[in-house]
Amino acid sequence: MEKITSLTVHETLDGLKNKEFTATELTAAYIKEMEKRRALNAYVLETPEHALKQAEEADRRYRDGTARVLEGIPLGIKDLFCTKDIRTTACSRILDGFVPPYESTVTANLFAAGASCLGKLNLDEFAMGGSNETSCYGPVVNPWQEERKLVPGGSSGGSAAAVAANICAAATGTDTGGSIRQPSAFCGVTGIKPTYGRCSRYGIVAFASSLDQAGPIAKDVRDCALLLNVMAGYDHRDSTSVKAEVPDFTKALGQSVKGLKVGIPAEYRPAGLNPEIAACWDRGIEILKSAGAEIVNISLPHTKYALAVYYIIAPAEASSNLARYDGLRYGLRVPGEHLDNMYINTRSAGFGKEVKRRIMIGTYVLSAGYYDAYYLKAQKVRRLIRDDFVQAFNRCDVILTPTAPTPAFPIGDNSMKENPINMWLNDVFTVSVNLAGLPGLSLPAGLSGDGLPLGLQLIGRAFDEETVFKAASAIEKECGFERLK
Ligand code: GLN
Repeated sequence: MEKITSLTVHETLDGLKNKEFTATELTAAYIKEMEKRRALNAYVLETPEHALKQAEEADRRYRDGTARVLEGIPLGIKDLFCTKDIRTTACSRILDGFVPPYESTVTANLFAAGASCLGKLNLDEFAMGGSNETSCYGPVVNPWQEERKLVPGGSSGGSAAAVAANICAAATGTDTGGSIRQPSAFCGVTGIKPTYGRCSRYGIVAFASSLDQAGPIAKDVRDCALLLNVMAGYDHRDSTSVKAEVPDFTKALGQSVKGLKVGIPAEYRPAGLNPEIAACWDRGIEILKSAGAEIVNISLPHTKYALAVYYIIAPAEASSNLARYDGLRYGLRVPGEHLDNMYINTRSAGFGKEVKRRIMIGTYVLSAGYYDAYYLKAQKVRRLIRDDFVQAFNRCDVILTPTAPTPAFPIGDNSMKENPINMWLNDVFTVSVNLAGLPGLSLPAGLSGDGLPLGLQLIGRAFDEETVFKAASAIEKECGFERLK
């Protein structure tokens, strides 16, 4: 029999309901796998006792007939979500030893539905990065061809690697410019960034508040739908969370895509696009076409400005959000002779290089004299990028693109170390979706010539995750991608 840790969430729920195994046995199996796979560095904190306690309760509920929708499902939690009484660091030294007195809404929703917590997962420091190399706990190793020491993507690199390596049943992620979708693509798993406002940001360490969204990273499309059902919903503690009804996303799965209009944006096929990525995209197009969808060529003309706009707005908001780490309120404090020195010493020692870079850019573009030239201009172009999508969705129902321009690359890649802009270029296909606030899903759809997963991205209208799920399940069914077991 297949290992129980290789099962999807929906298969696991069936197994628990049919008493093929108990939640305690399942949790113990995951804990054992976590120990075996420590070299991946996916977890920055393991909480096995906590998980086993939650499993006991799950088993009691299965016996009583009071099991909830995710009863007994062991999750990994990105260490950007505040977890009550469990250390939360955003993988930054500046939050060293921070133990939140409250729970994020998204994780609270998951635990209230019966899911449990195996531990906290590695990420790029404050979710700034695309390779998980900026974490103060060091990089995560992609479980595909582990000996090659490739990055898992970022910032939710720990989440995607842990799901791929079967050391959690599913994980939470966050996505400000691609951090759910790109690591999902690199690790051959599925992740969705929902519409901005779909999930509460309460209790999630803030990076860029107008872009940040939480979402699931899971083994297949159905698992993402199951998890999002529970994670989503209005929350009075987040003023940008939206009072929209949360449909049962699993109902969209397996529905016919006949007549569905699928937009293919010309700007996402620049000259020199990696031919394997292009071929994977073409195959996704073919699959949807054969299933009866109508393929529509569209244009998103302001795409070429998206990276520039993102790398102004995200650092601007980050510099403001990160001003709160002053050495007084949370985590690390490095003393100094005067108050100012204490701030300087704490922030110098506590933040890593990439975070400092973002704070400096953000402070610059917000400063008097540059605000109009950079920040305000970027906001205006952001509006044009959003308008491109509004226009496009007059002609199509969902948009299909690659998730990332390359497969996973080696840890320590020189071109990116020497020039950080080369790292930022990896986000070219994902950032527009955040700037426009739309839902975007990545699913694995093929392998590169040397056997690495390639992801496809589906983008939907605001609050139309259902069409995204429908199209994703149609591709998943036909593309024959095999997960790591
Ligand atoms: N790679 C992007 C960045 O570095 C996106 C990160 C994210 O979505 N959190 O900002």
